[in-house]
Amino acid sequence: MTDTLAPTTVVPPEHDVPSQRRVVTAIPGPKSVALQERRAAVVSDGVSSALPVFIEKAHGAILVDVDGNAFLDLGAGIGVTTIGHTDDAVVAAARGQLGDVIHTLFTITPYEEYVRVAELLAQHTPGTHAKKTVLVNSGAEAVENAVKIARKYTRRAGVAVLEHAYHGRTNLTMAMNFKAMPYSVGFGPFAGDVYRAPNSYPLHDGLSGADAAARTIAYLEKTVGASDLACLVVEPIQGEGGFVVPADGYLPALQEWCTANGIVFVADEIQSGMARTGAYFASEHFGLVPDLVLSAKGIAGGLPLAGVTGRAEIMDAAQPGGLGGTFGGNPVACAAAIAVFERIEQDDLLAEGARIEKALKPALEGLQAKYPVIAEVRGIGAMIAIELADPETHAPRADAVSAIAAAAAQQGVLLLTAGTYGNVLRFLPSLAVTDAQIADAISVLDDCFAAL
Ligand code: PMP
Repeated sequence: MTDTLAPTTVVPPEHDVPSQRRVVTAIPGPKSVALQERRAAVVSDGVSSALPVFIEKAHGAILVDVDGNAFLDLGAGIGVTTIGHTDDAVVAAARGQLGDVIHTLFTITPYEEYVRVAELLAQHTPGTHAKKTVLVNSGAEAVENAVKIARKYTRRAGVAVLEHAYHGRTNLTMAMNFKAMPYSVGFGPFAGDVYRAPNSYPLHDGLSGADAAARTIAYLEKTVGASDLACLVVEPIQGEGGFVVPADGYLPALQEWCTANGIVFVADEIQSGMARTGAYFASEHFGLVPDLVLSAKGIAGGLPLAGVTGRAEIMDAAQPGGLGGTFGGNPVACAAAIAVFERIEQDDLLAEGARIEKALKPALEGLQAKYPVIAEVRGIGAMIAIELADPETHAPRADAVSAIAAAAAQQGVLLLTAGTYGNVLRFLPSLAVTDAQIADAISVLDDCFAAL
C-alpha cells in the first residue's frame, strides 16, 4: 500500500478552553436565550436541540457556550468527535487541505486523499479479503448506498432490519428505523420491501444468542423468505436504540445464516465504529466479518464524511456512475479522516476505549447498587448506557431519564438520552475524556439520582 501523502505535522496551539466544567450563569444563560429567540424565528421547528445552549468553542471533552459556561461533554456530538473536539491533528490537516484544494468532485477529477481514506478503511475494517469503498456525506447516505449496492449485487429487493434499530432520516432509512415518533410520523409514503425482525435484547427477552438468532431467522424466513432478501442491516451495538449489546453468539449466527442464503450482511457501524469501543469496529468484539461496513460520525473528527466499505466483488456490482454525489469524499473531510486514523495509530487510541470503560462501568454499577431505578449498566468501551425502569413494575422511566439529563446539564454535564422508550442515558464521550472528568461526572450523577 502506498502512502505518498506527507504525515501531518502538528504544532499544538493554545486552547482557550478550560479542562473542567464551569457554570457561571443560569442554564441556558442570557446570550443563549437571546439566540434561541432568533433561532425560533428562522430555523424550522422540525430541528430540535436537546439543550439550547449555543456553543462558541470546544476542545477535548469540553464545550464552552456563549455565556462562558463550560460543559463536560459526554455525548461528543452523538459520537462524532471521538478523538476529541478540535483535535490538534485534525485541525492542522483540515487547515492544510483548505489551502490546497477544497473541492473538485471526485467523479470529475479525483484526488489522492479519497484513495488514502479508502485504503485505510480497507486496512482497518474486519477481514483480510479485497475491499473497496464509496465515500458519501452522512450516515443515512451510507445506509442508502449499502442497500443500493446489495440489491444490485443480489438482484433481490428485500431489506431486513432489527427492532430498535436506527438508520437515518432519509426516505429509505425512515422505513428502516424502529421508532416512528419523531423520525417518520407524517412523512410517508415510505420505501417498501423493508422487513423488521425481532432482535436480541438480553435485559428484556432473556434469550441466549442462539435462541434469539433462531427467533430472528424464523421470523424472516416466515414473513419474507431468505431468497427474497438482498441484505440484513444490523448495528453491532444499537445506538439510538439504547446501546443494546446482543447476547453472545447472536450476531455470528445471523451472519452465518446470511452467508448460507446469499444475503449481504451489512454492519451499520456509524455510531459504534472508529475506535469508540476499543476496536476499530465493534464487529470485532463479536467475531464478525461483515460483507459491508458503514462508517460515518467519528471518521473525520467532526467533518462530514461517511463510507461504505466491503467485499470488492459486491462493491463493484454497481455500474460506473451509479454511486457518488457532489460532495461525497470532500478533500477537507478526507484530510481530516486521514489525521484521525494517524492519531488512532500513533497514540494508541484503541486503548482509550478500555480505559474509559474501566473508569465508567464500575462507577455506574456503584450507582446501580444505590439506586434500584437503574435496571442495567451495559456497553463496551466509550459506549456505555444505563437503562432506567421501575424496580417493581419494570415500566420504563423516561421521566427519570429526562429529569437526570436536565439536572446534570444545570451542573455543566452534558448527557445524551436514548432508547425506544426514552429510558436510557448513554455515555458516548470522546476518547479525550480523562478519568478525573469521568469521576466528576459520576459525582454529579450521584447527586442527581439522590434528588430524583
Ligand atoms: N446509523 C446509525 C447507527 C446512527 O447512529 C446514525 C446517526 N445517529 C445514522 C445511521 C444516521 O447517520 P446521519 O445522522 O449521519 O445520517
